[in-house]
Amino acid sequence: MVELDTVIRNAVVVTASDVFESDLGIAGGVITALGRGLGPARREVDAAGRYVTPGGIDTHCHFDQPMRDAVTLADDFLTGTVSAAHGGTTTVVPFACQLPGQSLRAAVDDYHRRAGAKPVIDYAFHLIVADPTEAVLRDELPALIREGYTSFKIYMTYESLKLSDRQIISVLAVARHEGAMVMVHAENSDCIAWLTEELERQGRIAPYFHAVSRPPAVEREGTHRAITMSEIVGTPILLVHVSSADAVEQIRWAHGRGLKILAETCPQYLVLTADHLDAPGFEGAKYICSPPPRDEASQRAVWQGLASGVFQVVSSDHAAFRFDDPAGKKRHGEHASFTRVPNGIPGVETRMPLLFSEGVTKGRIDLQTFVALTATNAAKIYGLYPRKGTIAIGSDADVVVWDAEREVVITSDLLHSACDYTPYEGMRVRGWPTTVFSRGDPVVDEGKLLATPGRGQFLRCGRPHPPGA
Ligand SMILES: [Zn+2]
Repeated sequence: MVELDTVIRNAVVVTASDVFESDLGIAGGVITALGRGLGPARREVDAAGRYVTPGGIDTHCHFDQPMRDAVTLADDFLTGTVSAAHGGTTTVVPFACQLPGQSLRAAVDDYHRRAGAKPVIDYAFHLIVADPTEAVLRDELPALIREGYTSFKIYMTYESLKLSDRQIISVLAVARHEGAMVMVHAENSDCIAWLTEELERQGRIAPYFHAVSRPPAVEREGTHRAITMSEIVGTPILLVHVSSADAVEQIRWAHGRGLKILAETCPQYLVLTADHLDAPGFEGAKYICSPPPRDEASQRAVWQGLASGVFQVVSSDHAAFRFDDPAGKKRHGEHASFTRVPNGIPGVETRMPLLFSEGVTKGRIDLQTFVALTATNAAKIYGLYPRKGTIAIGSDADVVVWDAEREVVITSDLLHSACDYTPYEGMRVRGWPTTVFSRGDPVVDEGKLLATPGRGQFLRCGRPHPPGA
């Protein structure tokens, strides 16, 4: 019998399908035993009455991505992963973003340098394909997919990133041929450009007008167009950060036609609304992200979508810019047009606690759905399953012990991002991750970081196996 390094006793284990009482035996960083009365082990953890879930997988976060306009992201691969770990996340999949004119390979090399010896938890990379040249489509992309970069994001908006429909179709065709997953940021760029010009002409430039410049119709049209291209090429896509009831309706429509459309949403679309952007003074800039938070009807539609299988993934879309900082939200001062305010909000640490509290504690989703949305489905979609994303014999011992009764008031001081604010300041949540294990190592315990930088391992992703496929 294998000697155990750690036993977590009397856990209420939650997977995407089951809830059961068991001890967890860990050896060599892997779960090697499930059952009653396991032991003995060098480290004994009593989890009586506590839920133990798979470590979270956050498959949409931006760390140390170079920005234009002398703006910098708050978090690099150290603070970003430290913040993630404190929130119960044990794997992140940030982006390696191709710059126009740059080869994809150079982008990947650059991000490996940026990660360096910083990550405290395991990580993989999605690519961002911003310049799909002939060489990228024919050689680079297929080669990188075979090396373990099996997913990539494309944009339908943002001047420096957006692809034309023809380019999107070409990228989807490569994904189909190679069996890769394409993540799509779906908003209609020209509509946003026209609305923005109109607003600026009228002097309506306060942070709130960011939301007015990107109404749900813009997302609805982009979503429908992306679904259509996916159908025509015959390859699944994953629609990222879906925010509106209109977009949810399009996805339901696609599912009704039997199309393989996957979808992701984020906590900001579950607990924030556009009213947050209307806060006094420049405060609203703290909530500027794209798509913008919507209204309560959209929140309800997204919650219903989480409970009914419209969505497979809840990610953070963590793109943190400091608020009180000339390299952050205040780059152009407090009277700048919303168009000049860096676009993105922090959330990698609050993702799991917010979804647990607002979802599980409040009875909107069950525990298994929580695990599916925060870990298991992402592992399957991005080729990390079953090494990551579940509690099973042979899986990495990435597990989180939860105190479902603990009440915590979220404040920026409590969190570990290098960002200087949280959009959720003052929110009371019930349910908190108390101990977080990564490959059997306790990396966070009762708010204390136990991990050293560089212990996180780079993960090569396999081919996607979306749930239900
Ligand atoms: Zn996006």
